[in-house]
Amino acid sequence: MDTNYRSFFETLGLPRLQVHHPINHFDFTRPGRIILVVGPMGSGKTGFAAQIWRDSRIALQKDDSVDRWTCTNGADLRNVFFIRSRLDKRRFTEYPADALAYRGGYEIVGKAIANIDSSFELEAVIEDHPDVGTWVIDEASFYDERIAYVIRRLVVERGLVFVLPTLILNFRNALFNATTSLLLEVARDVFPLTAYCEHPACLTDSSYTYRYYLVDGEECPALYFDPLIIVGGDQKHADGRRPNYGTRCGDHHVLPGKDYTYLVLKPLGEQAAAGEPADLTRELKLLRDEASRSRLGLWLAEHNAGDDEQNRLSRNALRVPCLAERALVYLFAEQNLISELLLREIVLDLDLDVDFLTQRLADNRRPVRFT
Ligand SMILES: [Zn+2]
Repeated sequence: MDTNYRSFFETLGLPRLQVHHPINHFDFTRPGRIILVVGPMGSGKTGFAAQIWRDSRIALQKDDSVDRWTCTNGADLRNVFFIRSRLDKRRFTEYPADALAYRGGYEIVGKAIANIDSSFELEAVIEDHPDVGTWVIDEASFYDERIAYVIRRLVVERGLVFVLPTLILNFRNALFNATTSLLLEVARDVFPLTAYCEHPACLTDSSYTYRYYLVDGEECPALYFDPLIIVGGDQKHADGRRPNYGTRCGDHHVLPGKDYTYLVLKPLGEQAAAGEPADLTRELKLLRDEASRSRLGLWLAEHNAGDDEQNRLSRNALRVPCLAERALVYLFAEQNLISELLLREIVLDLDLDVDFLTQRLADNRRPVRFT
């Protein structure tokens, strides 16, 4: 912000007037930047991107003399282009293909939008549009790690500007993935956005992603060891197998089973990795047949016995279907603790849900065929 403008308010002599950070229009005169726009679902990340588009419409109407501030190596930063994932195309079927849709509206951006699957396709699209200086990549964390270096190279070599509206935390409140941490390393500016907590009794600003299931209409939070990635979580699902997401503040973000995962489940996986799978198999069998008697069930009964909402919801986590399958996906795909051979033995031995496992293992890039 213009410091004169700011000090104007500060010198008005109104002692209790608090001057907040300004909400600026996009700066098309500073090349070579990577700008992260981070926040949970519903925080207005795409709305932020749409504002950059509207700002560019105004900036492009200026006369040719501004070129010297906005051009870099043949590209004009006022030319804005949007990149989104091919998977996302399905999300916006009610809008035209050239629309940038966000909650509350959309912008028609014509040819300035493309759908890609990988960092290689990103490079190809950028090469095809040498005059574009500002690239907005929706959910950059969802791509391969290579994308961070593709972006950094183009920033260094050509002075392009990248705006990356993305989730950076997963449902466990940890950095979303390896791509996220690389993007944080290469970025220069961060705009954090928040959303209202979706809990009906709360108006706090929040930034956590809450994953839960609906079982017989009841809210059941995902356990800590739930599969990290579950593809296709946009619509509301009431079948208990596919998750729902909400944005919650710290007080209303329920994530049961973290202690259990590290105190019990992972050590059982390590024991199995060392050739002693009997205890793990016993726990998985209980998770399948009688979860309340499993070590997870006993843990929750002991540590979440209270009548308040947090404890009641934590106990509900036991009602989510396929608990044994979820534990196996965690140990196999995420922790690399059990071999594919042992996985197959346990699945056969306990007659686990092969459809569920096939899908979740593919989501987490460790596909296994059971038939
Ligand atoms: Zn809240």
